[in-house]
Amino acid sequence: MDRKLLGIPASPGIAVGPVHLLRWEIPEIRHRIIADDAIPGELARLHVALDRAQERLAQIRDRVEHSAGPQEAAIFDVQRSILDDKELVGAVEALIKQNLAAEKAFEIVMIEWGQKFGRAAHPMLREKVGDLKDVEIRVLLLLLDLPDHDPVDIPKGTNAILVTHDLTPSLTVQLDREAIAGIATDAGTRTSHVAILARSLGLPAIVGLRTATQELSGRETAILDGSTGLLAINPSVADIDSYRERARQEELAGEELRHLAGLEAITTDGVRITLRANVDLPEEAELAATSGAEGVGLMRTEFLVVGRAAMPDEEEQYRAYTRVVKAFNGRPVVIRTFDIGGDKLPVGGFPTEANPFLGWRAIRMCLDQPELFGIQLRALLRAAVHGDVRIMLPLVVTVDEVRAARELLDQAARDLEARGAEFRRDVLLGVMIETPAAAVACDTFVNDVAFFSIGTNDLVQYTLAVDRGNANLASRFTPLHPAVLKLIHRTIVTAHRHNLDVAVCGEMASQPLMAFALIGLGVRQLSVAPRSVPLVKRIVRGISVEVAEDAAKAAVAAGTAAEAEAALRSRLAGVMGADVFFGDGSV
Ligand code: PEP
Ligand code: MG
Repeated sequence: MDRKLLGIPASPGIAVGPVHLLRWEIPEIRHRIIADDAIPGELARLHVALDRAQERLAQIRDRVEHSAGPQEAAIFDVQRSILDDKELVGAVEALIKQNLAAEKAFEIVMIEWGQKFGRAAHPMLREKVGDLKDVEIRVLLLLLDLPDHDPVDIPKGTNAILVTHDLTPSLTVQLDREAIAGIATDAGTRTSHVAILARSLGLPAIVGLRTATQELSGRETAILDGSTGLLAINPSVADIDSYRERARQEELAGEELRHLAGLEAITTDGVRITLRANVDLPEEAELAATSGAEGVGLMRTEFLVVGRAAMPDEEEQYRAYTRVVKAFNGRPVVIRTFDIGGDKLPVGGFPTEANPFLGWRAIRMCLDQPELFGIQLRALLRAAVHGDVRIMLPLVVTVDEVRAARELLDQAARDLEARGAEFRRDVLLGVMIETPAAAVACDTFVNDVAFFSIGTNDLVQYTLAVDRGNANLASRFTPLHPAVLKLIHRTIVTAHRHNLDVAVCGEMASQPLMAFALIGLGVRQLSVAPRSVPLVKRIVRGISVEVAEDAAKAAVAAGTAAEAEAALRSRLAGVMGADVFFGDGSV
């Protein structure tokens, strides 16, 4: 092979195929002044590009409607209406008439509009910034005569390795699973939402490659190993054969693990651990239910919104939640209210705040938009008729937020009653413990909530001040840092003291070594990616709580994450053998 690029393993599996390079970025535009007599030609060039962009969007729209559905296709209607906007086109024409080249004129107007939308008070307008950026890229590529790539251009059966800087919602909805075998991105980390979505879709993925789009030309072949984060460029036939063999072995190991689905998650000293699944898309529910999970510990509802032009209405949400509840047949299903913002891309757009992770997101946004939140709460209370729905609030920092949410939940119940709709009132309400504030002050919540669920992805991010999506910081994102372990321990102890249910639903729970540590810290409920259910069950069945407690004590006492990891590794290998560290590269 020519060379290897190493990124962060994001979604397991091996894919071999041609590289499809998708450079979907705003190209560099030179400041070009044109002569007076060139103005008519430049105006004509602008209109040709706008017309071609319209045609392209119409084609994509049709394709997406067919492959993903009408709601997803509506993004492209938004983009087409931007291109049709008389004010926008008029502003570009005016600049061309002042002797600016078409591409520069178009870029300037798009920047102005982006700022205008970004400052708008109404979220729907702010969300349009992402669509504006998509439109800008498309038209500029056409004006500069650069290839106007689209993932949908890849013929079915290509088995392409899609290499791109990052996945935007409009790119995500265009992904054709029959054409793409794997995804590799420069940006992102294991806990960023591209990675979570790839795992949900079962597409092998590597994120955080940093420079892959610069280093590749798009003419290469590659092996993508989503378990180790390795992208092997132009592999030899022997390389490909050896990876195919590895893929076969992974498949066999998977089969071995599947037989665990029917067995109990119980430690060697007889302590039962409840293993639930994280479900990101309603379509995953049926498969997740066969993984051996005892219910859903986290359903991320924002994926109903990502990549869409409009929020799902009450009926659609009701159907989505009901599908998951029914798939789990009476077992608990914890559904988290919208966690939009941060890197959970809002409707058809990008976050536009200076600090989106510290910004107007999740419960903050829902409480400020009671109508939008009310729709979700009503859908949840209605879905609860079909099973054991529990409602969970994200990014909570103070109990006031819980009280405000409860008032809105009561209001939702009154609205449904007035309408004569069927619903359940006695739904449990809990919170994610995913900010240091909530963890340190978790005792302030105990009288107002029925359960805690520790979200380690954000808890690590906020405790260590390490952006979870920044590939340059990936090695500093250390869940085993003593500060994180102490916050988790404190939360568990408080919950147990007050007889509250407490689970861990962040990525940490899915990784065998970390799951071992969590059990040692006192956690008895874990919610993990469906594929990790058997992997974690294998650990549970191979350890005793006594050994886990001793290991966790050593980890908490360690001065650094690396020392904590070494302490855990040696003890886990001591009881289960060194070959426990196999598989998805996450141990
Ligand atoms: C978390 O923060 O750990 C979590 C489970 O939620 P998300 O990854 O969706 O932010
Ligand atoms: Mg979170």
